[in-house]
Amino acid sequence: MIKISKKIYLDYAATTPVDKEVLRAMMPYFSFKFGNASSIHSFGQEAIAAVDQAREKIAKFFNCDFSEIIFTGSATEANNLAVEGLIKSQISNLPSISSGSRAESRDKSQKFHIISTKIEHESILESLKNLERAGHKVTYLPVGKEGIIKISDLEKNIKDSTVLVNIIYANNEIGAIQPIKEIGKLLEKINKKRLEGGLSKIYFHTDAVQALNYLECRPDWLKVDLMTFSGHKIYGPKGIGGLYVRKNTPLSPIISGGAQEFGRRSGTENVPYIVGLAKAVELVFKNREKRSKYILDLRDTLWKNIIVYNKGAKLNGSFGNRLPNNLNIRFDGLSNETLIVALDQAGIAVSAGSACSSRALTASHVLDAMGLTLRQAKESVRITLGKNTTKRDIKKSAKIINEIVKQLTS
Ligand code: PLP
Repeated sequence: MIKISKKIYLDYAATTPVDKEVLRAMMPYFSFKFGNASSIHSFGQEAIAAVDQAREKIAKFFNCDFSEIIFTGSATEANNLAVEGLIKSQISNLPSISSGSRAESRDKSQKFHIISTKIEHESILESLKNLERAGHKVTYLPVGKEGIIKISDLEKNIKDSTVLVNIIYANNEIGAIQPIKEIGKLLEKINKKRLEGGLSKIYFHTDAVQALNYLECRPDWLKVDLMTFSGHKIYGPKGIGGLYVRKNTPLSPIISGGAQEFGRRSGTENVPYIVGLAKAVELVFKNREKRSKYILDLRDTLWKNIIVYNKGAKLNGSFGNRLPNNLNIRFDGLSNETLIVALDQAGIAVSAGSACSSRALTASHVLDAMGLTLRQAKESVRITLGKNTTKRDIKKSAKIINEIVKQLTS
């Protein structure tokens, strides 16, 4: 059996190791700086100062206001909060039937319309299902074979009752990048007219969890009202997420209690993780350009080396319009389960798609939306590189992947 001495990790879209600098920044807050940020005494003051500084740091990099950053327990929670919290706020903000306004006909049972895509992360799709169960309508935009939506489809589907557009920035399985800035600009134009005509604003949320490492994510540049990000995809800790919420965006909490995070997310602040998330964001902004080029170069080398020896290997999605660290490949006639296990035994970690669904081994909804057959989806593996991937790793990985694919298909 082929086996290498040092394991090679090629699953950075699932999670990343915590950066040494991030860990160093977090450490004091596990031990002697352990205060509760809500306490009045000096221990509490020290903790709240650390949370405030972390919030300020992220706000500086995102070019937004301190009060526009909310910390959550994960990006899953931030996504749930953005989607369900916005709709919840629309219901509680409805004018009463007797208010005599233009909205006289509206009542608490009014249903709203949301536009999203077929290739969102499960944390969005499940929130959307909850809203559908409550009677709201969701339009799921299709994607082409490159995994990208058409802006004209989005425009066509806007209704008077539309209150939210929710589009993932970069997909976790195929790395496809959606035209978020263009959509932001379009919605800005549409909203101007809607407000003049007495209609409510359409809010815009993007899940930037996979994008933040590689793409421009300042909310004012993207023209988004809400944006989700996660610690563990950017070399920070697992179990911490964040939500950018533009000023004056209505958002009702989905977790209530002590009214932390400006009343939008109750629960004692996870000080070490918040400090770690801010440090990780700082490092993204410091290293993004250089790192993206380095990783793109390695990714392209790996693909060239695979395709030279495996003429039947197919890349799922677009080559140009994808994250620089992502390859999603299928090998004709070879099940991804067999390949992943064989590669793991040889010391290389890759995955079948999203980390959430890979254990359940259900076929990918993303590949299905792109028009792949069930068989093709079950032949697809995701290979994602990161900052610690070396040229040597790529050389070795290409050699082993080629040898194993040959063994398993001959
Ligand atoms: N959104 C995307 C695009 C993701 O890739 C993930 C994680 O896989 C999440 C949301 C959820 O992030 P978290 O693990 O912080 O809950």
